[in-house]
Amino acid sequence: MDFKQDFFEQLSGFYQVVTPAGLPQPQWLAWSDEAAALVGNPQPSAQLLQQLAGNRPMDGARYYAQVYSGHQFGGYSPQLGDGRSIILGEAKGAQGCWDVALKGAGPTPFSRHGDGRAVTRSAIREFLVSEALHHLQVPTTRALAVIGSELPVWRETLEKGAITVRLARSHIRFGHFEHCYYAHVGNTERVRQLADFTICQHFPHLSCDASGYRQWFTEVVQATARLIAHWQAIGFAHGVMNTDNMSIVGDSFDFGPFAFLDTYEEDFICNHSDPQGRYAFSQQPGIGLWNLQCLAQALTPLLSSDELLSALQCYQPTLVAHYLHLMGQKMGLAQTGQGAREDDLALIGAFTQMLQQQKLDYSLTLRQFATLDPFAKHSALRDLFVDRAAFDDWLARYRQRLGPVADLGQWQAARQQANPRYILRNYLAQQATEAALAGDLAPLQRLYRALCHPYDMSPEFEEYARRPPQWGEGLIMSCSS
Ligand code: AMP
Ligand code: MG
Repeated sequence: MDFKQDFFEQLSGFYQVVTPAGLPQPQWLAWSDEAAALVGNPQPSAQLLQQLAGNRPMDGARYYAQVYSGHQFGGYSPQLGDGRSIILGEAKGAQGCWDVALKGAGPTPFSRHGDGRAVTRSAIREFLVSEALHHLQVPTTRALAVIGSELPVWRETLEKGAITVRLARSHIRFGHFEHCYYAHVGNTERVRQLADFTICQHFPHLSCDASGYRQWFTEVVQATARLIAHWQAIGFAHGVMNTDNMSIVGDSFDFGPFAFLDTYEEDFICNHSDPQGRYAFSQQPGIGLWNLQCLAQALTPLLSSDELLSALQCYQPTLVAHYLHLMGQKMGLAQTGQGAREDDLALIGAFTQMLQQQKLDYSLTLRQFATLDPFAKHSALRDLFVDRAAFDDWLARYRQRLGPVADLGQWQAARQQANPRYILRNYLAQQATEAALAGDLAPLQRLYRALCHPYDMSPEFEEYARRPPQWGEGLIMSCSS
């Protein structure tokens, strides 16, 4: 990999240099050719394995941990920082640069009481979800590889340590700005320095002046709104939407106890450590705005309250418009070319409410729009509902809204491209991880391949297109990853 070191060279004082502790007896558990193609196509050689395990230095790489803060579960944590992630620099690729980070590479000055490690279970989950979200067209960090080891790591039980090699357009979080603002009160230069760097690197069409800052923050608000609309549309719960896990470029970032919904449950909580449901599925849109308000506070050295508030006002309309666009594609409401409309929210809401009442699977039910003839009396979609009368009532409303469908085959094909058949259900990740830990990588490779083609229909992946078994339904993960 060919690195440049812009963050390292331009933002000294925003990180600390680290020596990776290394990983004993490393082995490749997963590798993404697609992610590799982003950073100049490195091959998974024995040498690269030792380098990405942190056992041998890599040409052109620096090793550093960034400092940031963040609001965690509503309270401010002044000093967080990369406690278990070491950044190597920005690897050059044909379409831009990607930060390369080794997540789980050992302690850093920001590890506090942590061991700086990640367990295999969570490293594999991060790998799979990054690549799965990408193939669902959701902005996200990517994952190049998972490196397993025999290193014992204590969580609730004894597990094995691993590294996810993460690729990110940027590792700058909302929390970076909060750190500049709160840790250096009175020193507005630091916020400006970080904002200028962010704009130059990631928003190069903007200028570093008052109007540029205003436009930049507006774009951050909009990107965040679109991201969360996308999560809501595909039924993805992040689980830990602390401001230190919010990317400044609007990518899905820092995966822990995330989940895709199985049975539709509006208030689903995927995080064992969140009994109050601050980050429940239904709360994500509101939390996105709350987090942006934290960021806005940190940007007060650059922008007036009026400017910040006016940018924040874009949040809700952007989120709703994007959600309507995506749900319109999923349910066929966009066929007239006008997209879904504001008053479609009620129709969509009535549908998800039926899913909740009748305990139906979110993704698999929507997938049946790909087989639906909206004007036929019977359908595979209708057959999923126990309360057929309720479904027929809803269908009558839906038909009225839909109007005539010119080409049913084309309409159904478009629904197939909008509703995935294979999603990363927690129990699938768990099964693949158990096999990998027992030395069989085939199930992990197969699941990964399926997630790269989420809209296809393939006999090889048929088992993934089912509802989970009872033991795997609504699995809740803990934060201890
Ligand atoms: P997270 O909830 O994973 O986003 O982590 C929040 C903070 O805790 C970040 O600063 C992490 O770097 C840090 N952290 C999480 N797990 C560990 C660990 N095992 N060792 C050291 N730091 C950790
Ligand atoms: Mg984090």
